[in-house]
Amino acid sequence: LTFLGIESSCDDTAAAVVRDDRDILASVVAGQTALHADFGGVVPEIAARAHAEKLDACVEEALSQAGLRLADLDGIAVTAGPGLIGGVLSGVMLAKGLAIGSGLPLIGVNHLAGHALTPRLTDGVAYPYLMLLVSGGHCQFLSVTGPDSFTRLGGTIDDAPGEAFDKIAKLLGLPQPGGPSVEAAARAGNPRRFALPRPLLDRPGCDLSFSGLKTAVLRQRDDLAAAQGGLHEQDRADLCAGFQAAVADVLAEKTRRALAQTGAPVLAVAGGVAANQTLRAALQTIAAEAGAAFLAPPLRLCTDNAAMIAWAGIEAYNAGQRDGMDLAARPRWPLDQNAAPMLGAGK
Ligand code: ATP
Ligand code: FE
Repeated sequence: LTFLGIESSCDDTAAAVVRDDRDILASVVAGQTALHADFGGVVPEIAARAHAEKLDACVEEALSQAGLRLADLDGIAVTAGPGLIGGVLSGVMLAKGLAIGSGLPLIGVNHLAGHALTPRLTDGVAYPYLMLLVSGGHCQFLSVTGPDSFTRLGGTIDDAPGEAFDKIAKLLGLPQPGGPSVEAAARAGNPRRFALPRPLLDRPGCDLSFSGLKTAVLRQRDDLAAAQGGLHEQDRADLCAGFQAAVADVLAEKTRRALAQTGAPVLAVAGGVAANQTLRAALQTIAAEAGAAFLAPPLRLCTDNAAMIAWAGIEAYNAGQRDGMDLAARPRWPLDQNAAPMLGAGK
């Protein structure tokens, strides 16, 4: 089987062609970072217009890189949610048009299922496994037992960690996206200089919180600024190192619990924050202690892309899913409500 995948739920417009033998024939991602740079966040209206403008070219580029025409494919998979409604609608409408024109089956995919199934595409991992999804918009533990079978074990009750990295960078005057710049600054820092909280560690279960940590960093910054009239380079480095260590500590401890609770043989990560080396090292240690394998897909497949959507579409197709022209765009779509109702049912 060969599927076209289409993704437009956030700030990346993407198209990909993927085969069921896990070969990625093409994966095109057109980002919008520059368009939103002046606004300090993704502006939904700008994102929607950019998706509408770029989607056709992305699909054409992906087909041309794969050396295939629509008629050579076996299906079209499109992100049907969750995400910004304007972008999701653009993708779904394009996919419907392509499906009508070609007569190919149409499959609506949950964006989070795309992330959660990525280790099957990259490493052919067998079910079940534990997925930690850590990105700019999400943070959750999922027990993955089948292409349509996800159990959420816990997640953030406020900010996502990537969002926290981005805010910390802003507070300290470092460039966006915050993750890479905080990680770079932290290299010269002492993670133990500032006492930062480890939120929710005293509470049982796998839920996490990152907003109190952000406030604690802000308070330390303000105290320093008041005491010495500004921040020194070393202060910044120490705050970044302390923040990063706190994030890694809480994620590692909650991961330890999730592995113990599920007995999963494999821990896999996805999302942009999974690029963080300190976090990766901490998770690798936790997995080894639990006797689980640790899988981190390459970064371009950890962040938003359409190859994961094409792959999730193939798995859903093999499981019997078919969608019709009533496929709905769903801005909110929790993954563990993914089961039977989604067979063409829309809402
Ligand atoms: P979502 O896909 O959940 O809607 P998103 O598109 O913002 O959210 P991703 O593209 O997966 O998320 O990841 C981007 C986030 O990852 C940003 O918040 C960025 O700061 C963070 N990030 C990237 N590299 C690193 C790093 N080395 N360390 C920590 N965080 C990082
Ligand atoms: Fe995503």
